[in-house]
Amino acid sequence: MKCSYHPSYQAPLPPGHPFPMSKYPLLKERLLAEGIIAANDILQPEPIDVPTLELVHTRGYLAKLASSGLSAAEQRRLGLPWSEALWQRSRLASAGTLLAARTALEDGLAGNLAGGTHHAFADHGEGFCVLNDVAIAVRKLQAEGAIERAAVIDLDVHQGNGTAAIFDDDDAVFTFSMHGERNYPLAKMRSNLDVPLEDGVGDAEYLDALQRHLPAVLDAADADMVFYLAGVDVAAGDRYGKLALTEEGIRQRDRCVIETVRGRGAPLSIVLAGGYAATRTRTAELHAHVFREAVAHELRAGVGPPPCSRTESPAADTHRPAATAARSSGTERP
Ligand SMILES: [Zn+2]
Repeated sequence: MKCSYHPSYQAPLPPGHPFPMSKYPLLKERLLAEGIIAANDILQPEPIDVPTLELVHTRGYLAKLASSGLSAAEQRRLGLPWSEALWQRSRLASAGTLLAARTALEDGLAGNLAGGTHHAFADHGEGFCVLNDVAIAVRKLQAEGAIERAAVIDLDVHQGNGTAAIFDDDDAVFTFSMHGERNYPLAKMRSNLDVPLEDGVGDAEYLDALQRHLPAVLDAADADMVFYLAGVDVAAGDRYGKLALTEEGIRQRDRCVIETVRGRGAPLSIVLAGGYAATRTRTAELHAHVFREAVAHELRAGVGPPPCSRTESPAADTHRPAATAARSSGTERP
């Protein structure tokens, strides 16, 4: 399995900053050490060019990012202090998601050992997210004619508000977000399908909801490319998560998405999104599961039916079913 990675995915942050930047190299080293990926499976992206970023982001916002022009308030909303290295890593991580998507079009499955920065809007960043890498990859591939339709399966514990807003009036991109209802962001945007979960939801309820909705999401999306935001902040004990999935529950979730999407023959591009476990090593360990499951899927591809093939729910039979707009119950940071 090919995965995008760059050493500069890790940008320096002030001491004590809660964002676990070191999870990126820790994850890469773990996957290599386990033989999940080989050295020649790693694809190193080049920083993405500004015209490609302009397919999603406003010129005004990009000009601020390129010139240290974010105000103190804008940096607080972002949750990260601006630096040249942060701007560089954001462009590299977005390039990594685009590279993974291109690779998935050829190989069927690929990943980025970063990405999933779904709180980035067209004109601003928030919640540790500078650029919306998945939106950029979708728009670039559409512009090139490589894809027409895309689906975004966002299982990070926080709603994919930036992604939902960017694709709000775009019928070619289906956005699906399953997230903590009482968690960040305070004001939810409207995805094509939002599935809000109560605090404390564990494996059984979570997996049941996923299995009920995912087939209908994929039916409605009819996507040429599927992006999976495999955030691990759904794990029990996550600093910001409020849900209670076990490690085995996360593996089952990831297996379900991979088997269901690939079982339909759609190319799948996997990105990390969030994870805030007690240690950075633990966070990287949790992120590794989706890649373990992806490689295991490749090994058994074509053998047996998907493990989660329930299809009783027609939940996504209209384009904007059960959307939950502008909820105001969130409290925490992403
Ligand atoms: Zn998150």
